[in-house]
Amino acid sequence: MTDNAPDATADAQKKSMDDIMALCKRRGLIYQASEIYGGINGFWDYGPLGAQLKKNLRDAWWNDVVLMGCNGKTGPNGKPVRIVPVDTCIIQNPKVWEASGHVGGFSDPMQTCRQCKKLFRADHVPDLLSKSSWVCDLAGVTEKDEQESILVDGTAALTWTKKKGSKLAPGLAVFRDQANEIIATLKSSTAPIPLTMLIRILGATTEKPSPWPCPNCGGELTEPREFNLMFFSYTGAVFDEENKVYLRPETAQGIFINFKNVVDTTRVGVPFGIAQTGKAFRNEVTPRNFTFRSREFEQMEIEFFCHPDDTADWYAFWRDWRMKWWQGLGLAGDNLQLREHDRDELAHYAKEGAGTSDIEYRFPFTAPGFGELEGIADRTDFDLRQHAEHSGLGDKLKYFDPTRGELAKNGQPKGERYFPHVIEPSAGLDRGVLAVLCEAYTPDPGRPSKVYMKFHPRLSPIKAAVFPLVKKDGMPEVADKLRAELVQRFGRYGAIEYDEKQSIGKRYARMDEAGCPFCFTIDGETLTDGTVTVRDRDTLAQERIALDAVGDFLAEKLGL
Ligand code: ATP
Repeated sequence: MTDNAPDATADAQKKSMDDIMALCKRRGLIYQASEIYGGINGFWDYGPLGAQLKKNLRDAWWNDVVLMGCNGKTGPNGKPVRIVPVDTCIIQNPKVWEASGHVGGFSDPMQTCRQCKKLFRADHVPDLLSKSSWVCDLAGVTEKDEQESILVDGTAALTWTKKKGSKLAPGLAVFRDQANEIIATLKSSTAPIPLTMLIRILGATTEKPSPWPCPNCGGELTEPREFNLMFFSYTGAVFDEENKVYLRPETAQGIFINFKNVVDTTRVGVPFGIAQTGKAFRNEVTPRNFTFRSREFEQMEIEFFCHPDDTADWYAFWRDWRMKWWQGLGLAGDNLQLREHDRDELAHYAKEGAGTSDIEYRFPFTAPGFGELEGIADRTDFDLRQHAEHSGLGDKLKYFDPTRGELAKNGQPKGERYFPHVIEPSAGLDRGVLAVLCEAYTPDPGRPSKVYMKFHPRLSPIKAAVFPLVKKDGMPEVADKLRAELVQRFGRYGAIEYDEKQSIGKRYARMDEAGCPFCFTIDGETLTDGTVTVRDRDTLAQERIALDAVGDFLAEKLGL
């Protein structure tokens, strides 16, 4: 997470995650999984509207990436971008995960609090501490961003530990073995102590003079320990190590292990990409922030194979195009940013000089910082080489490129055999949906619903609604006929809603919350002059158009 643009920050912070989650529940977008049994941490179900919204985003990706080859954009080689899809299994031979490094390395170092038993990702502890209620109280601030230059007087800190500190952070070492030494240190400090140093002093233990204490209770944290994030199960009847299998933690490996199959059975040639969407599973230690960090989620991944010499060009191409793609779906403006990784953030497969960047969105819960939506990584030839080695296929997994290599006597290239390098744009579908929801959520105290969802027309789960003004005088019949026509024409893009219950105002309000861009109302005038009222979700403007022009009107407005 990073910072920061003042206006958009204010906007993002104004949108409360609790309100967005409440709307998601109220309108059937997202429900807690297993809700009637008290839920299950890290799992979410999509309701009728949410399932359609998610499908629309997945379809937009599939259409623009796979079917349209980056919407017809030419690649850096001046040719159309070629992408083919696959749909591979969630469970694969466990050797796949040994080769990919997931069995050995797919773990986050974790720390447990010896006092309150809470578990933390070691690299998250400093950030969590800066947000924790006891640190904010000790610092006398409410926001972590105000903490940077805070100095605290030693004796004031001591007084705090005896009063509020004993309740807010009862696990602190000052209440345990190191009490005397810590008290002495605080008493003898002649100058005020920087907050971060003070936190470490308060967390001191005999063995570790200045560790981070627990963000929850101030207690002592264990050394960071490995924690494997892959869910596992067993195949067959015998539950032993030999039959242990894993649920994929990413869809990417299903692509790499089929690279040779795709090359051998289709006419694609490097450079080309293989794409797939599908579920991935990670036993995240601290699932949080609604669907942002879930244990079951869906990815949309592309592995783009190119000659090693062309990596930099393709990396830049994908990074820029992916950013434009998200912008084109309404995530424009300051809430979206492209961030190149610092060197120390690079993943295990990334070599010196390889690029990695994240497309990040400013969610209400990350504001003023950002959270990752999609990562674009130069994976080099790491994965193909690993699979070549672990499968025993060796050089057979190399690609033979007849268009390269030295020239033979006849002037034709002799061909070159190599492991292609890979650019991977890897997006989270659920995080994408969440960003779309947060962006669309628009408080508007002036309208009866007080809020409306300003979905991009391509994504809105309901494309249009048809209402008879009253349930009589032949209006329902005309409305239902219009609904049927619109379903025929637009039903493949999203729902066409029909509603005859409650007042027209309440029906508009429902559609505002569902993000339906246009409502068509059949009234008395329709029966006499063949016109209907169309109401625009965003402007609230109402105009009359001919009943038989509704289809074309909608097609134009939705860009379909
Ligand atoms: P993070 O650092 O947030 O854990 P990551 O860098 O591990 O993410 P990748 O392995 O690059 O994520 O996965 C690609 C994409 O999959 C991410 O950009 C994100 O959109 C999505 N993703 C990863 N983990 C989760 C999760 N636990 N819940 C929802 N989406 C996820």
